Amino acid sequence: MKPLSKNIILFVVVLLIVGAIFSTYTISGDKPEEIGVGTLVERIHEGSVDRILVEGDEVTVTHADGSEALTRKEGGESLSDLLTNYGVEPEELAGIAIDIKGASGRSYFMSLILPSLLPLLLLIVVFFFFIRQFQGANNKAMQFGQSGARKAEDKKDKLTFKDVAGVKEAKEELAEVVDFLKTPKKFVELGAKIPKGVLLMGSPGTGKTLLGRAVAGEASVPFYHISGSEFVEMFVGVGASRVRDLFNEAKKNAPCIIFIDEIDAVGRQRGAGLGGSHDEREQTLNQILVEMDGFDPHLGVIVLAATNRPDVLDPALLRPGRFDRRVIIDLPDIGDREAILKIHAKGKPLEKVDLRRAAERTPGFSGADLANLLNEAAILAARRDKKVIGMDEVLESVEKVLLGPERKSHILSKDEKNFTAHHEAGHALVAHMLPNADPVHKVSIISRGRAAGYTLKLPVDDKKLHGFKEFVDELAVLLGGYVAEKMNFNNVTTGPSDDLKRATQLAKDLVTRYGMSEKLGPRTFGEREDMVFLGREITEQRDYSEATAQQIDQEISRLVDEAMQTAKKILTDNNTKLEAIVKELLEKETIERDEFEALLK
Ligand code: ADP
Ligand code: MG
Ligand code: ZN
Repeated sequence: MKPLSKNIILFVVVLLIVGAIFSTYTISGDKPEEIGVGTLVERIHEGSVDRILVEGDEVTVTHADGSEALTRKEGGESLSDLLTNYGVEPEELAGIAIDIKGASGRSYFMSLILPSLLPLLLLIVVFFFFIRQFQGANNKAMQFGQSGARKAEDKKDKLTFKDVAGVKEAKEELAEVVDFLKTPKKFVELGAKIPKGVLLMGSPGTGKTLLGRAVAGEASVPFYHISGSEFVEMFVGVGASRVRDLFNEAKKNAPCIIFIDEIDAVGRQRGAGLGGSHDEREQTLNQILVEMDGFDPHLGVIVLAATNRPDVLDPALLRPGRFDRRVIIDLPDIGDREAILKIHAKGKPLEKVDLRRAAERTPGFSGADLANLLNEAAILAARRDKKVIGMDEVLESVEKVLLGPERKSHILSKDEKNFTAHHEAGHALVAHMLPNADPVHKVSIISRGRAAGYTLKLPVDDKKLHGFKEFVDELAVLLGGYVAEKMNFNNVTTGPSDDLKRATQLAKDLVTRYGMSEKLGPRTFGEREDMVFLGREITEQRDYSEATAQQIDQEISRLVDEAMQTAKKILTDNNTKLEAIVKELLEKETIERDEFEALLK
């Protein structure tokens, strides 16, 4: 109801203004006196008239004392004739300055009618204004067919490929597209078909939207961008017409690029029934399919789309002739992370910051995480009243982004501290002793996020493949905390619950996903629908028998049990080392990698 009440206020204001004008119009006091021709003649005889101004039929009389009076004459008649007829002698007029101006165009009739007409005119204007306003409220409804896509303007701060670090393949692919739009002849002469669509897929924060914007900066052709969800915003049924409008506009301005961000919002598999309004989405998607088929590939309209849910996209979108080019954007590797950090370090006063080391510490971070990391570091430096950002701030921010902020208020009791120190020392020592576990970078008993303490282990390099031995060692490390608590206190806390959950899941994945159980052999169990880039499972369907289910359970238990034995052996054999770590932790709360390794020598 907001727009309506706004309208009412506006209407009232306008009415007040009109009222005010009207009232001044009728009662204004300092209007010149109106006199008849007889009075004028009388005054001429008296000799009190100084000047006469004739404008068309309107006669303004100025008296000797400066006051003014108005009178009118009949149309067409000259003033001198009129006065002569009234018996004014020419000598009497000699002392009066008479100015005659061309007719003002306002006839006597008009000047009579106008004063009464004016308020009416005003009212009509107001009326139209009001109607327009009323339509304005429903503006969105009026233009519901318009695409809502924004055209990228030639801005000074436009992005280019230089602003996007890493993602080499994606950049090459997109550079080719840009190249085509700039020099289509080169391609067409060789008979090359130009791709109609390029689909960027990758985890959230890997720079898909950024790349889209960079293409806009590089392409020097019109660039329309819209987010998938904007197609289906406000009203049911507008999605399809928005798509139509967008493509029409694009075709008019070809060569050009359309960028549909988050296309999964409309591009979901039809008939999947996920979410309520899938009917609406289907129509929108159908329209996209129709439009993409409908334009001539030589026209030079290229559709760029981005998604982090390629798994839910309708297969029809992915068939050749539509989004036939698919570019996967991976999480950045160490080199890329360093490059991304460099880009975001621009304009920040860094002192003695080794970005390479920061990159080493951040496996699994996306570009967005890295940008956030440097921002957190800057905030931290400002809070410490520093003029520059140091390596300390950067490293601390890594942990903050990774595990959440330190919880200073969460002070552990002495007992809790002791438990936590043993727990973390257990993880760290097992990790240190096992050849295939990631090296320990930091052990701490300061609470962060939900964890009471944490052991920061980082892989030596970014691995895409993981071996069975690594998994087995990882399992033992996960259980190290639990085992250490149990061994030393003959009691366990709720602390390891998260570790146990992760260990169980890992063991289950080994058996059912990776086919790594010797007993059950190299097959997978259960059909899952994964959210590939979000690392989550939504559903799992059983495709095995009850007997197999039992075997899977046994295998999971066996793997966990064996890992526990490994951890137990390491911690019993190295109990003095464990105690050394615990002592150090209780004293310092945090041990860095160098100290940790020195301690275990
Ligand atoms: P998404 O893939 O989810 O669309 P964005 O493109 O929105 O991710 O990335 C979010 C932010 O992360 C960007 O604005 C940018 O600051 C940063 N970023 C991500 N990837 C990169 C990269 N490759 N180079 C530089 N900055 C990046
Ligand atoms: Mg995005
Ligand atoms: Zn733990």
